[in-house]
Amino acid sequence: MTLLDGKRVAGEVRARIQTNARELTEQTGIVPGLAVILVGDDPASATYVKNKEKACAEVGFYSEVYRLAAGTTQDALLQLIDRLNADDKIHGILVQLPLPKQIDETCVIQKIAPEKDVDAFGFASVGKIMIGSFDFLPCTPAGVMELLSAYSIDPCGKHAVVIGRSNIVGKPQAMLLMHQNATVTICHSRTRDLAHYTQDADILVVAVGKAGFLTADMVKDGAVVIDVGMNRNAEGKLCGDVDFAAVAPKCSYITPVPGGVGPMTITMLLQNTLTAARNRAKSE
Ligand code: NAP
Repeated sequence: MTLLDGKRVAGEVRARIQTNARELTEQTGIVPGLAVILVGDDPASATYVKNKEKACAEVGFYSEVYRLAAGTTQDALLQLIDRLNADDKIHGILVQLPLPKQIDETCVIQKIAPEKDVDAFGFASVGKIMIGSFDFLPCTPAGVMELLSAYSIDPCGKHAVVIGRSNIVGKPQAMLLMHQNATVTICHSRTRDLAHYTQDADILVVAVGKAGFLTADMVKDGAVVIDVGMNRNAEGKLCGDVDFAAVAPKCSYITPVPGGVGPMTITMLLQNTLTAARNRAKSE
């Protein structure tokens, strides 16, 4: 069994991004810029935002973070996005989800200009992912694909099973695996006899959000297991959706949590921001 070391791969990709960003600045004067908007005081969201800010600084990007009160109105948020859409220093805009109840997430996400939609959640980005012609890839699924590629795991012809069908992980993950010629099965909470599908998976991506969800009896020998889950166990420790100790011995490759998919996600956000800045340079 080989561990898919997201921390190491993310470090390598970030070094490449840093070099590419420096070259872009030397050639065009453009410094890739990311604006992150956080509404409210959810501690997990605050940590994610802080990590994004830190990651930007590490690769030499410009960043702005807007920490708005939980009671912020939708109108105020839309106005801020309008302003950032028109700001030349900003190439990517990310609104940290979830948003407080008074704000319609779909409406807010659609307000982000498609050329700055570095989370790739807007209609235009999603449509482009569907047809396989995209600028921005959804960060977590793209991170998974990058990790597979770093270990020369080719999805072509393999049976890939994705558990979870959220718009941010499961659905785009299935699409990216299909674009790389895997035969894909998507499972969810209404799937009957889940183990029937998982036991046939060559590549198994688990994005459910329940600690210990995937057990050893659900996995075939030699499978590649990607654990997207980020949960806290009873002791408050970060853990994934996979019963790692029991599943790992059966796998050819498996991601740890932490240190697997997590570090790749922010790395792909940096990659998308660099792409947005390059596109901007081309359009000038
Ligand atoms: P989500 O929106 O809650 O979706 C969970 C999915 O799991 C749903 O499609 C749901 O099915 C399915 N599911 C729930 N119970 C199931 C069951 N018993 N059998 C089969 N499927 C079941 O969650 P998400 O946003 O996709 O995130 C999933 C996990 O990934 C979470 O732990 C989250 O924290 C983590 N995550 C990690 C990263 C990272 O960077 N590592 C990024 C994003 C998310 P239905 O659709 O039928 O309800």
